[in-house]
Amino acid sequence: MEASALRVARRLTVNGVVQGVGFRPFVHRLAARLGLAGWVRNVAGTVEIHLEGDAPQMDAFESALRAEAPPIARIDDVHSIVAVADGADGFSIAASADADSARPVPPDVATCPECERELFDPANRRHRHPFITCTACGPRFTIIDSLPYDRERTSMKAFAACARCTAEYAAPEDRRYHAETLACPSCGPRVWFEGADGGGRADGDKAVLLAATALRMGAVLGVRGLGGFHLAVDATNDSAVRRLRSRKHRDAKPLAVMVRTLTQARAVARINDREAAALQSSARPIVLLRPREGAPLAPAIAPGLDRVGLMLAYSPLHHLLLHATDRPLVMTSGNLNEEPIAIGVDEGRARLRSLVDAFLLHDRDIVSRCDDSVVRVAESHDILMRRARGYAPVPIFLPAASPAPLVAVGPHLKNTFSLVRTDRAFVSPHIGDLEGIEALEHWQGAYTRYRRLFRVEPTIAVRDLHPGYLSTRIAEELGLSRVIAVQHHHAHIAAVAAEHGVTDPVVGLAFDGTGFGDDGNVWGAEVLVCDLSGYQRLAQLRYVSLPGGDLAAREPWRVAVGYEALAGWQSDAFSLAYYGIPLAQRSSVQQQVERGINAPLGSSMGRLFDAAAAVLGVRRHSSFEGQAAMELEALAGDQPAAPLPFPTYEAEGRLHLDPVPLLIALGEGRKHGVDVALLAARFHESIVEASVDLARLVAGSYGLGTVALGGGAFQNARLLSRIACRLTEARLRVLVPRELSPNDGAISYGQAAVASWLLSRE
Ligand code: ZN
Ligand code: ZN
Ligand code: FE
Repeated sequence: MEASALRVARRLTVNGVVQGVGFRPFVHRLAARLGLAGWVRNVAGTVEIHLEGDAPQMDAFESALRAEAPPIARIDDVHSIVAVADGADGFSIAASADADSARPVPPDVATCPECERELFDPANRRHRHPFITCTACGPRFTIIDSLPYDRERTSMKAFAACARCTAEYAAPEDRRYHAETLACPSCGPRVWFEGADGGGRADGDKAVLLAATALRMGAVLGVRGLGGFHLAVDATNDSAVRRLRSRKHRDAKPLAVMVRTLTQARAVARINDREAAALQSSARPIVLLRPREGAPLAPAIAPGLDRVGLMLAYSPLHHLLLHATDRPLVMTSGNLNEEPIAIGVDEGRARLRSLVDAFLLHDRDIVSRCDDSVVRVAESHDILMRRARGYAPVPIFLPAASPAPLVAVGPHLKNTFSLVRTDRAFVSPHIGDLEGIEALEHWQGAYTRYRRLFRVEPTIAVRDLHPGYLSTRIAEELGLSRVIAVQHHHAHIAAVAAEHGVTDPVVGLAFDGTGFGDDGNVWGAEVLVCDLSGYQRLAQLRYVSLPGGDLAAREPWRVAVGYEALAGWQSDAFSLAYYGIPLAQRSSVQQQVERGINAPLGSSMGRLFDAAAAVLGVRRHSSFEGQAAMELEALAGDQPAAPLPFPTYEAEGRLHLDPVPLLIALGEGRKHGVDVALLAARFHESIVEASVDLARLVAGSYGLGTVALGGGAFQNARLLSRIACRLTEARLRVLVPRELSPNDGAISYGQAAVASWLLSRE
C-alpha cells in the first residue's frame, strides 16, 4: 500500500458478541478488500481495530462492519476515535491483550451454508463428516467450559487437531482460521448407532444410515445432539408418533418437527416471509406455523391445535440423518415429561432406554444443557416462547448497573435464573419446572457452571415472594449476605420495561397463570402502575375460588364451579362444563367452594381461559398448562368478533373485572347454537376490549403514556397483537417482550432488574 499525504488513522473499539464468532478474520478480509492497513486484536471481551488509509475507505469500513458482520456476531456499539498513523504496512491479526473481564460467551450457531455445501460435496475432505464447523458456525455455549474461548477449554479438547486441520486453523485467509471447533473425519468426534440394550453397534456413516432405516421402519430413536438428547420418530407415521407419546407420558403437548430445507418446510406448512426468516436464522428456533391442508404429518403431532412447531436442521448430524431418512422427523426433548433433558451418553442410555428402540450417539461432550428455542411470529412482532439454544447466553442489558454481583433465582415453573454483573444479566436457558430432585440438581449444576463461565460470584440473591417455592429455598440456602424478594407480576412488567430501557412508571398488564400475590392469593390478571422500584395494583380480575388449588389448573371444569358459585348457582349457562363429570364429584367440589376448603382465591387470566373452555364444552381436563387457552386461540383464529359484556366494579379501592356475565353469555350462546369458534373469538375480543379500556383509564388518571404487556397469556398471539394494536391506536406507547419470553422464562431477568435498580439507589 502506498503511503499518501491524506493517510489518516482511526482506532475502533467494538463491543458485543464479537469473540469466538469469526470476527477477526472477517475484519481482516474487509480491511484487505478496502485497501486499509492496520491490525485487529481481541482486548478483554471487545475487539480493537487500528486502521490507516483514506478517510472515505474508513467510512466504508465502518458501515460494512455492521452490515456484513458474521451472522452470529452481535455488535452492541462501535467507538471510533482519531488515532496517530504509524505507517503500518498491510493488515494483520495481532496477539490478544486479554485482561480478566467480561467476555460474552457466544451462543450455538446452526451449520452455515458453506459447511452444508461441503458436507454433501463428495470431493471435499469433510464430505459427510457429522462435526463439520467453521468460525461462522457450530456449537459454542454448549461445549465451552470456561473462558477465554479456546479449544482446550471446550469439550473439543479431547480431539487433537490433525496436521491439515492445524494448518487451516493457522491460516488467516482460511475460513477456519482460529475455528476452535474445527475437525475432520481423521481427527474429529465419532458417531455410532446402538440398540436400546447396547447391542448391534455400528460406526460412522453406517450408523447414520442404520438410524435412518430404523426411523423409516417406525422406531423411536434417542439422538444425542447439540444441547442434549432428542427423541426422534418418523413424523409422517401416526402410530410411531403415538408410540412415542405413550412412552414419554406426553398425551397432548405438541411435538416439534424437523426438516432439512425451507422447501421441505413449505411442503408441510404455510410460511410467510417473516416466518421463513425466523426458521433460517442462525439460532434455528422451533417456529410455530400453520400446517398445510393435506400435509403428510401425523395427526398425533399437535392434536386440536392450529399450529405445528417446525425447525430446520441445525447440526451436520441432523442434515445427514434427515437426508438419509428423506422425511420430516419429530425431534422432541429427550426426557420423561418435564424433567431436564439428558445430555451425557451414559445418562442418556440410563434415562431413555425405556423410551427408545435405539440410539444415535456421539462422543463430543455436552457441557451445558440447552433446549431448542421456540418462536411464534405474531402480526406485530416475533414472540420468543422459549429462549434457549441460539439465544442464550447472550447477556441482556439492565437499565441500572448493580453495585454487587447477584443471582436472581427465577420462578417456580418454566424456570430460568440470571447472573448479574454490573449492567449485564446472563439469563440461563430454559431450565424447566423446579419440582423434584433432578430439577434441583440440574439447577445447582447450571448455577455452578455459569458462575465459572461468566465469572460472577453473587453476594446477593433475588427470589419470588412465595415462601414455599423450591426456588425460594434455593435462594435462602445459597448463604449469601442478603436476599431480596420480588413479586411475580412486578417482575413480569419490570422485565419488559427493563429490556426496553424504560425506567419511568408504566401501566403494566400482567396476564398469566399463577403468581403469588402480596395478599397471599393467586394473582394472574393484574393492572399495575409500576416502575423498577415498586408497584401499585390498580385493577384485577375478580377473585374466584380455585377448588383443589393446583388441581384446578389441570381441570378447567373445577374453575367453572368456582365461577358458578359467584353466579349464585343460579345460572344454567355452566351445564356444558360438567358434561361427563360424575355428580358426586361435582357436588363435593361445590361443597369445597362453598366451605372454602382447599380452594384458594385467584385472579388468574389462565384460569379464566380454562373456565371459558369448560363452559364452551371445549375442554374439561387439561394434560398440560395452557392447553385450553391454546385451543381457544386456535378456534378463534383471526375471525373478527364483537366483545361480550365484561364489566368492572370498584371495591377495596381497586377496579375489578367481573367475568361472570362474560361466562354466562358464552354458555348461553353455546346453548342457543352459536358457533363455538365465533364464541371463542368473542371471548378474546372481550378481554381485549376490557383490558384496553382499563389501561387507558389508568394511563389517563396517572398521566402515563406507556403500557407494558407481560405474562404467559401474551403467548397468545391474538391477545397480544390485538391489545398492542388497540393501545397504539389510542396513542399509547406499547412495550412488548422481545428479547425474552412473555412467560415465566423472563421472571429471573425481571427480578434482576428490580434488585439492581434498588441496590443502585441505596
Ligand atoms: Zn460453517
Ligand atoms: Zn483434522
Ligand atoms: Fe407468570
